[in-house]
Amino acid sequence: MQLKIYNSLTAEKEIFKPILEGNIGMYVCGPTVYSNVHLGNVRTFLSFDFIYRTLMHLGYKVRYVRNITDAGHLTDDGNVENDRFVKQTRLEKLEPMEIVQKYTVDFHKVLEMFNLLPPNIEPTATGHIVEQIELTQKLIDKGFAYESNGSVYFDVLEYNKRGLNYGELSKRNIEELFANTRDLDGQGEKKNPQDFALWKKASPAHIMRWNSPWGEGFPGWHLECTAMSTKYLGENFDIHGGGMDLKFPHHECEIAQGKACNNTSPVNYWMHANMLTMNGQRMSKSTGNYILPMQLVSGDNNFFEKPFHPTIVRFCFLQAHYRSVLDISNDAMVASEKGYLRLMEAYKLLGSITPDDAKESGFNLQDWKNKCYEALTDDFNSPILIAHLFEVVKYIFALKDGKETISTKDLEELKTLLQAFIFDVLGLQTIEENNNEKLDQTLQVLIELRNQARKSKNFELSDQIRDRLLAEGIELKDGRDGTTYLLN
Ligand code: AMP
Ligand code: ZN
Repeated sequence: MQLKIYNSLTAEKEIFKPILEGNIGMYVCGPTVYSNVHLGNVRTFLSFDFIYRTLMHLGYKVRYVRNITDAGHLTDDGNVENDRFVKQTRLEKLEPMEIVQKYTVDFHKVLEMFNLLPPNIEPTATGHIVEQIELTQKLIDKGFAYESNGSVYFDVLEYNKRGLNYGELSKRNIEELFANTRDLDGQGEKKNPQDFALWKKASPAHIMRWNSPWGEGFPGWHLECTAMSTKYLGENFDIHGGGMDLKFPHHECEIAQGKACNNTSPVNYWMHANMLTMNGQRMSKSTGNYILPMQLVSGDNNFFEKPFHPTIVRFCFLQAHYRSVLDISNDAMVASEKGYLRLMEAYKLLGSITPDDAKESGFNLQDWKNKCYEALTDDFNSPILIAHLFEVVKYIFALKDGKETISTKDLEELKTLLQAFIFDVLGLQTIEENNNEKLDQTLQVLIELRNQARKSKNFELSDQIRDRLLAEGIELKDGRDGTTYLLN
């Protein structure tokens, strides 16, 4: 079955051809670590985690690179005073690298909670300043960039004059862009308003600064992704991903930088994940319409009626295709929880089904398997895959009720397939049953065995049980109503 990927660059679903047979280089734009990630950010990273898992399941060897943006990050208005890191260091009275460390740790914790696999390489912008300075110099040398008052800008008009096409990804017409933009950035330093910063001169307020041939400053945001993706994946690599909102200007600028530097389009397949909304509005820190992952999981919020386990959130996200908008709501979460529990119940039930090789089954496992792989290879269609899983859930319940049969061979294959789809590909986890309940049940068994030993006058064994438990911090107390235990 051929893998098809929707390529944002061509706006078409294309048959995927890797540059190197069996191998994939994939780069995904990571977080800007100046504050806690919200649930919307998680959705994008989770979408790419599912894509990464699927690619591996399909047999590809994937090098997955996801960066950490930890250097100066200009806001849209380009005003250095509004740099998110500068603002946050003032607010929290911390060093910039303390801010970076604090929120990188938080980011990792959150992604681990939702069972995201770590990327193979997680490079940081501050760790690649030398590469970014080199790229900037290369662009100046090739005539695609110019220095102005200690900053360096990419010359968009020059790029287009040479027959390259700024706006090809976002389908924007450069003339329109020029006509519609006011020059807010750089206070007249730029030749044209669409020119973007490769290197920015640091104002006295800017604490994160590095020496460069153009004076002290810091790299432009777009440049870091070009520097890190090409360093680890090559000048032309297979897949580049990120949230829909990064298409313009971030990814457009990455294409321009890559083409200008290396005479080749940097990426073969551009993939963009759609947004998470709440109350019908895009989740975003700046508008205040957001929820932090822990608030949803702990129940500490005014929006959801109860706490939800991270794996339920994961399941809810995957019930929407990565290119569709998903609106998170209490009803959606409740429905996901119900669906998840039924799926897991069926999965567990499978262990107790007895096969029957004599009877013909009404369920064609091979057809079902093909449909699942069709969904996976059709631009990573997780909701269709999940719909197929619910078909098999129905079948498993029919097996349990004796209304259906399954052969030994099919039973084994179904177990393997379900295990792979549920845990490896969708990345769901089982919810731990109440540990205290399990411990209590286990201790009751041990108490009963000790009583039997005492009845049969095997005091050596009964004492051994008591002493071994005591050594583990569990004290048995014999009373008139039987034996109880005390956990120390
Ligand atoms: P940032 O840290 O702001 O660079 O964002 C990290 C990632 O989260 C980017 O890929 C964004 O596109 C993505 N993102 C931001 N808001 C949302 C949202 N509401 N839904 C889905 N993804 C989002
Ligand atoms: Zn990026």
